[in-house]
Amino acid sequence: PDGMVKREDFDYVEEAVPEPGDGELLVQIQYISLDPAMRGWMNEGRSYVPPVGLGEVMRAGGVGRVVKSNHPEFAEGDHVTGIFGVQEYALSDGGGVFKVDTDLAPLPTFLGTLGMTGLTAYFGLLDVGEMKEGDTVVVSGAAGAVGMVAGQVAKIKGAGRVVGIAGGPEKCAFVVDELGFDACIDYKNDDIRGKLKEYCPDRVDVYFDNVGGDILDMVLLRLAHGARVVLCGAISQYNAAGGMKGPANYMMLLVNRARMQGFLVFDYASRYGQAAREMGGWLKEGKLKTREEVEHGLDAFPDALLKLFRGENTGKLVLAVNGD
Ligand code: NAP
Repeated sequence: PDGMVKREDFDYVEEAVPEPGDGELLVQIQYISLDPAMRGWMNEGRSYVPPVGLGEVMRAGGVGRVVKSNHPEFAEGDHVTGIFGVQEYALSDGGGVFKVDTDLAPLPTFLGTLGMTGLTAYFGLLDVGEMKEGDTVVVSGAAGAVGMVAGQVAKIKGAGRVVGIAGGPEKCAFVVDELGFDACIDYKNDDIRGKLKEYCPDRVDVYFDNVGGDILDMVLLRLAHGARVVLCGAISQYNAAGGMKGPANYMMLLVNRARMQGFLVFDYASRYGQAAREMGGWLKEGKLKTREEVEHGLDAFPDALLKLFRGENTGKLVLAVNGD
């Protein structure tokens, strides 16, 4: 696709449910993860994963139930998460598939706060951002799946001040009143530069950037000495038909002896277990809040995906399939 994706970019195909071979399992998918990165996976060219080829099943994370298994580590009835695609059933060899404990949280949470987006927030903030107690932390996309967790983890780990940036008064109210951020800038209505000055009097030690574009440029103007800018994503640029726009104010990194570092959550796979256990504990204790929004039916996929780019979701957006 060029620019924004459209319904006509996808075909719906029905075929018989496959039988698992030796060492394989068959998963009945219950929830599919909707992620801004899906837009990038549809582009040609070099990236961190190969593009989804024409005619292939659209790549997607999912969570579901094992309905048949010839795999020694998975039994019928297990709930599992993995990259299963936008489809109702998936055949897997078990690679990248993890069991989930449904006593801990409902299934959609394993695609969000206890899944890929929560882990992204955790490692991005603590490892890449090297957040320390007392830091001023700013998070864009603050009412979304990654952002809501990044800001809460910052509070839990002792940040001095956590400021969100989100679109609209309802989202900002959610970020402050329900998630416990200290303040939230409504980038659609507020004077962003003025509010950054007001809410970050000691400047910004960690900027967790989910959006790129003009917001990144404005936060660069407010960096503290030795600041860390965590390049998690740039959703404002993903559908740009004329190419992405880079930051103009990057010399603020030099002035402030600051750094900006990109990262991919997949590089932390060996530590997922430890981080998920820690976050699961916070969730149980009520220190970490989560929110998921559920769309229904495979047929709703393209429109549901577009909600992310229109800012129509609060929290983690998932698609329920197979009658859930
Ligand atoms: P999300 O925040 O739940 O949903 C996307 C949100 O982005 C929307 O609700 C909207 O909120 C905001 N948005 C959309 N267009 C925007 C624009 N033009 N300017 C500013 N904000 C805009 O999505 P998510 O899954 O948590 O992903 C957040 C970011 O993390 C994305 O950039 C994604 O690619 C990235 N990510 C990176 C990794 C990694 O490993 N590096 C892993 C997962 C996700 P508003 O209403 O507030 O605008």
